[in-house]
Amino acid sequence: MLSSELTTVQKLKISCLGRGIRISDDIKFRLSAGGKTPLSIHEYATTGGITLKFGDEIYVNAPFDEWYCNNPDAELTVGSNDELQICFHGEYFSAKILPLPGFLGSRDSKGNPVIETVMSHADRIRLSPIYGCSFGCQFCDFVGKKYLRRPLEQVLEGYEIARQDQALPARHTLISGGTPSQRDYDYIDTVYEKIIKNSPLPVDIMLAPRKDNIIDKLVDWGANGFSINLEVYDEEISSRVTPQKHRIGLELFAKFIEHAVKRIGTNGKVRSLILVGLEPEEKTLQGVEFLARLGCDPVLSPFRPAPGTPLAGLQPPEPGLLEHVYLRSREIVERYGVKLGPRCIPCQHNTLTLPDGSSAYYFSSDSNQL
Ligand code: SF4
Repeated sequence: MLSSELTTVQKLKISCLGRGIRISDDIKFRLSAGGKTPLSIHEYATTGGITLKFGDEIYVNAPFDEWYCNNPDAELTVGSNDELQICFHGEYFSAKILPLPGFLGSRDSKGNPVIETVMSHADRIRLSPIYGCSFGCQFCDFVGKKYLRRPLEQVLEGYEIARQDQALPARHTLISGGTPSQRDYDYIDTVYEKIIKNSPLPVDIMLAPRKDNIIDKLVDWGANGFSINLEVYDEEISSRVTPQKHRIGLELFAKFIEHAVKRIGTNGKVRSLILVGLEPEEKTLQGVEFLARLGCDPVLSPFRPAPGTPLAGLQPPEPGLLEHVYLRSREIVERYGVKLGPRCIPCQHNTLTLPDGSSAYYFSSDSNQL
């Protein structure tokens, strides 16, 4: 059996991704300081759980209060020494909970909530200059939200506040979605340039393929890497679930990714996320191969149904499927000399990625202290 290649703690991570974790009311009360501080901020489906660290290197964002978490194999408990533990199939593993950032209730100088433009997870700041999205991927929390372009000053100030945060110190940055409409390319490019050129932290950009020379500009400004997310490989499913990405087409995705790899390298600097659980396993694996062949790191992202989205009622993938897809994908990427991304170990918390002891996977600076 392929899955026997995994250790119990690796299986624990995968189980948390697929089925979530149980947290008793007593422990919730204790961890939330009697209900005063939230355990999680539900601002995006794949980051809506609590972020746990098992041992030195395994991070997982574990959902705990979603409808599909009603029969988890993992439970958060407190050991006799008062330390947090996870019970999984009768075995106990010590665990640490990563804090939420310290700026959740903060406002900028104009009174805007800081979280309108920034959020931090593990050691990374996610900057969102656009609220809503010009695309409409059916699994995404941004579907149906009013499209808003945040003022440049708000984005820059929010970023500075997040960068100074001591509760969850950041080691790198991702400028993320929503995807801007074409009429906002000048705006988003100004944000990219200002942040990349002025930030002391490495800055990655998440973007959909464009027909202009944006990759060249971003590389010249000093971008650290790219997330060019395919999401779904199967043509028919993609036409329904990610219609705008489907219209971009695999040919343009390939050209754009290839050019990014050519400009910035193959060592994990270019990643592309593919969801697990929205298409047949074989299609996901074909997608992994399509991406790996281009020299980019595929990132396996287990589908999580987000409330209020068209796919809210769809069951997430079972741990057994996740294990199988993970192991088969690992074989594929090995053949092409790339890795399953992301390479940053704390950023693996919501992805089907496991460190393998090689130097390809890393901690940014001292973020292993998290
Ligand atoms: S492009 Fe990204 S942000 Fe926009 S709807 Fe799709 S997944 Fe959501």
